[in-house]
Amino acid sequence: MSDTKELTCDVLVIGGGTAGFGAAAAAGRAGLEVRLIEASSKIGGVMAFCPGMPWGAAFPCGHSIGGLMEELTGRLAAMSPPMAEARPCALANFGPEIQYDHDVATLTMFEMLEEAGVHLHLNATANAPVMDAGRIAAVEIFDRHGPRTVHARIVIDCSGDADISAKAGVPYVLGDGQGNMMGVTVSFMMVGADWSRVFAENDPYFRRYAAKGIEEGRLHPDLHQLYLMKSFHPGSVFCNSVVIRGVDGTDPNSVAKAAQEGRRRCHQLAAFLISDVPGFEGARMTMLGPTVGVRETRKLEGIHRITGRELAAAMKFPDGIVACDNPIDDVMRGDEMTHDAIVDEGSYYTIPFRALLPKDVENLMFAGRIVSADGTAFASVRGMPQCMTMGQATGVAAAIACRDGLAVQQVDPLEVVATLQAQGVKGIGGASLAPASA
Ligand SMILES: Cc1cc2nc3c(=O)[nH]c(=O)nc-3n(C[C@H](O)[C@H](O)[C@H](O)COP(=O)(O)OP(=O)(O)OC[C@H]3O[C@@H](n4cnc5c(N)ncnc54)[C@H](O)[C@@H]3O)c2cc1C
Repeated sequence: MSDTKELTCDVLVIGGGTAGFGAAAAAGRAGLEVRLIEASSKIGGVMAFCPGMPWGAAFPCGHSIGGLMEELTGRLAAMSPPMAEARPCALANFGPEIQYDHDVATLTMFEMLEEAGVHLHLNATANAPVMDAGRIAAVEIFDRHGPRTVHARIVIDCSGDADISAKAGVPYVLGDGQGNMMGVTVSFMMVGADWSRVFAENDPYFRRYAAKGIEEGRLHPDLHQLYLMKSFHPGSVFCNSVVIRGVDGTDPNSVAKAAQEGRRRCHQLAAFLISDVPGFEGARMTMLGPTVGVRETRKLEGIHRITGRELAAAMKFPDGIVACDNPIDDVMRGDEMTHDAIVDEGSYYTIPFRALLPKDVENLMFAGRIVSADGTAFASVRGMPQCMTMGQATGVAAAIACRDGLAVQQVDPLEVVATLQAQGVKGIGGASLAPASA
């Protein structure tokens, strides 16, 4: 990128997590000029901060949600040797999840953005919107050349934390509405483990080992359940166990402190696994996350706020843009991790497009974990496949808004749904999820 101070584009996507990837790829494929601004040095967001994290919830009721998620998985699975695979999840109430090679997946996502003609700005942070009446006229960003201004027709906030939407005046709720936010996590991988011995343990949470480590003062008391899962490559185990509670993901000081404390607990846990859990004797730690994975901060107020009650009723909204049956995956807003089912087995709900639209700002949409949802609904809708498809929906809507010169609130949601269906998204627009095998 040159050091031009003023940049233009049709669509500015803020944040290159799974939602931002979906938004930028969809808008770029529709022929729009797209700039994707990512504060870190890599795309993926939480997927990059917790490398090896499986893509969950891509198979509601055992059937693919389709769209970009299916395409990305398909590209990886078609490689020789295959670089992704759907496997059952050992934890209660979760459907099959996609395990994949982290580095090949990230490269493939970069390539898909490249093919879509997206201008990717890494190590660039969006700082503030420049408002003009009811629209965002431009967004001020900052990179190593200094401050710049991006003028865009449509802005899609996929930043996970919604700084720009909040500064643009979109109301929001932090956490569950009572100020409780889910714990943040530093993850790591163990390689060289003997799967047959590690997973001979009947308890998927390894509680008796955890209790021993805590009693002996070798593990933090919050590690009473160890979330260990087979990762993509044989002998690799993904450790999604270390949760730091009471962290505000919008506060850089709080995040830095948690990242440091999380690293310490990860090293303690890795040493404990090697010394105490059969099958880890010859293993070693790798892929320690570069920072914490933040699950929950701001939830923006959309035209529609999804509620846990709606999801429990397996609502299929006319403007539903992606299917989901993920449980209520609440990670230590209080003391516990819970993942109770939200819908009856064999059932699913859809996420409405209106939950991605603010009431007022006419050229702003948002996608991913800042979706408009109450605390219960949020705990279910936040999986990466759903975030990616929410992004895809906003990219599609941006193309319609630009084509017809509309405010995003005037875009016909049924056209968005029909376009997504044409792009292979399943289980929406009155269609049932196809009876195919996962
Ligand atoms: C520890 C943990 C475990 C999880 N486990 C699973 C799982 O097993 N399976 C699953 O499917 N989901 C899981 N989830 C949920 C899922 O990972 C997230 O909900 C999802 O990745 C959120 O995607 P996103 O794109 O909305 O946001 P994020 O992934 O948070 O991405 C936001 C991006 O925006 C960038 N950004 C932020 N502010 C700015 C700014 N001002 N300017 C420029 N860039 C900015 C950030 O750097 C980041 O890259 C987990 C989440 C966590 C934290």
